[in-house]
Amino acid sequence: MSGTRRQAEEVAARAAGHGGSDPDRRVHHFTQGADLTAVSDLLTARRDEVLERWLAATTAQPFHADRASAAVADDIPDLFDALVALLQRGAARESEPGPPQDDSAVIAAAQAHARARFRQGLAAPDVLTEFRLLRQEIGRALRLGLGSQTQTGDALAAELLVHDGLDGASYLALAALTEHEAERRRLADELSVTRQRLEAILDQIPSGLVLAEAPSGKILLYNNEAERLLRHPVVAAESYHGYTDYAAVHADGGSYTPEEYPLTCALFGETTRDYELCYRRGDGTYTWFSVNAAPIRDQAGTIIAAVTIFTDIGERKRLQAERAAFFARLGHDIKNPLAAIKSLAQLLLRQVRRGDVPADILSARLTAIDDSTGRALRRLEGLLDVVRDDHSQSISLHREPTDLLALVNRLVLAYQVTTEQHQLVVETGAQAAGDTLVGWWDSGRLERVIDNLLANAIKYSPNGGAITVRVCRETARADASAGPLAVVSVTDEGIGIPAADLLQLFEQFHRASNAQDYPGTGLGLWAVRQIVELHGGTISVDSREGQGSTFTVRLPEGGRSAP
Ligand code: ADP
Repeated sequence: MSGTRRQAEEVAARAAGHGGSDPDRRVHHFTQGADLTAVSDLLTARRDEVLERWLAATTAQPFHADRASAAVADDIPDLFDALVALLQRGAARESEPGPPQDDSAVIAAAQAHARARFRQGLAAPDVLTEFRLLRQEIGRALRLGLGSQTQTGDALAAELLVHDGLDGASYLALAALTEHEAERRRLADELSVTRQRLEAILDQIPSGLVLAEAPSGKILLYNNEAERLLRHPVVAAESYHGYTDYAAVHADGGSYTPEEYPLTCALFGETTRDYELCYRRGDGTYTWFSVNAAPIRDQAGTIIAAVTIFTDIGERKRLQAERAAFFARLGHDIKNPLAAIKSLAQLLLRQVRRGDVPADILSARLTAIDDSTGRALRRLEGLLDVVRDDHSQSISLHREPTDLLALVNRLVLAYQVTTEQHQLVVETGAQAAGDTLVGWWDSGRLERVIDNLLANAIKYSPNGGAITVRVCRETARADASAGPLAVVSVTDEGIGIPAADLLQLFEQFHRASNAQDYPGTGLGLWAVRQIVELHGGTISVDSREGQGSTFTVRLPEGGRSAP
């Protein structure tokens, strides 16, 4: 029996004696008395070859197919060196290498490798394959390199040490990783719950919200309201350069550059408050947003993100503009009669100073002043009615016997002196009994109705023409129990009203599309309708654009809704 064979049998016998039930003691028996000098020297000499072959074998594995460069491993050389060091420690026949599974250097290198692979996205079986490849390469180097002078027992002991060292280390490394993975999953789950909660909260905010990563500007988070306000999906920009897909516009119509958005400014540390920005929404309509934006910093003060919150103020801006226009028109409406009063008063004053004012001139001037004052007052009273209506205060009528015909004649005369272009005519129907048409009405408010219709007829007939006021009584009514109606209509030959505007003509602030160049508030006809309806009457309009208009008011004489 050769020496080598005898030694192998001894090793096997030692192993059998311990029944393999205690691996540590089994390895201990294998390695006891082995000389590992030749083995460790051989592996030191073949270090580069083993590592290169391992890399080649690993690179060929399917799990590195996508990226061969990722197969390079910083910790495998350390693992190899730790294994060689383990063998070196037990090199002399009389020294013991210690249990290979407990070798801290081997474990540390194996764990470091497993962790690195895990970060690369490799699964546990892939990492085990890599450890097995290292074991194969070390075994190959030993089988090919050891000469016949090396005792088989020493070679076997060395292989056994390497096997157990790697097995133990890979087991521990993977166990740690499994724990690590479990922890990572737990944290990921926790994060997803937190994110869901955060999203639920964000969706309760009645403003649009967008969060971007700093310094890139990559969009990280946004709420539903943001998309609802923008009327297009939030652009999934990877950097703020991608904000060109947002559609804020300057007053001159030019688009915002990415750098001009408050969110971008926040990425660079700037805080923006209540910035008003005009935006072209996804459906092509424009609105105004009030935008706030601020950087978000970590504890060290570094900007890690930026947040922007915006609300739609389009409606508010529209009302502001409307209000400004309304007051401008109102000012104009009241200024006109006041200016007329002023010039009449100045004229009169000059004549009085000269000392020769004939009584008829004095009377005419004072009447004109009285008419203009009346007009200004009626406008102001109309305005007060609007304010009362806005505050839901009921408007109560002050009814008294009122002669509609006298009222119409007086106002027609007063208006005729203000214009030479128009010929104002009063026509009374056969039913307008004699010279009066008396009803139980609020005379002040009825005056405002006629005043408004006459003023409009003149204003909306820029080329002059006839303005005919017809006053009559309607006695034959479908409802026999109802009393007679007083009817007054005002017809002009002016610009007329586009059909599309007729339905809304009596709404507050509505002005026809062809009236934009004429002063006015869009409140006159609304107030007229209120007054007429309070009297239990109706108002209607008949008009053709470019040909003229007729407004007709029907009033119950007795005032059916009278208190
Ligand atoms: P405004 O102050 O604008 O005159 P009104 O409430 O009196 O407001 O009238 C509402 C709108 O109805 C006007 O803006 C105008 O477009 C139209 N309108 C009223 N009367 C006439 C008319 N006689 N001829 C043409 N359009 C008229």
